[in-house]
Amino acid sequence: MYQDGEGKATEMRRQIMNHISENHLEQYAMRRLPKAALPKVEEHLLICSQCRERLEAEDRCLAAFKAAATIIRPKRTQAAHA
Ligand SMILES: [Zn+2]
Repeated sequence: MYQDGEGKATEMRRQIMNHISENHLEQYAMRRLPKAALPKVEEHLLICSQCRERLEAEDRCLAAFKAAATIIRPKRTQAAHA
């Protein structure tokens, strides 16, 4: 039960199902993804809503982390100015 068309469809599906790794997603969210991996990740994000959602979750996580970091920092600079 092997057909050429079916083989191609499977190939395409495999590309879609080959999701961005947790590591790459995190690096992409932090704008630290190696340039070589960037096209592959961006291309996948275009076709995969699942990974877009994962990226959004990653972004929210980073934003919360940054917000927490800026809450801690101003106290130090204020203390230095005073
Ligand atoms: Zn994906």
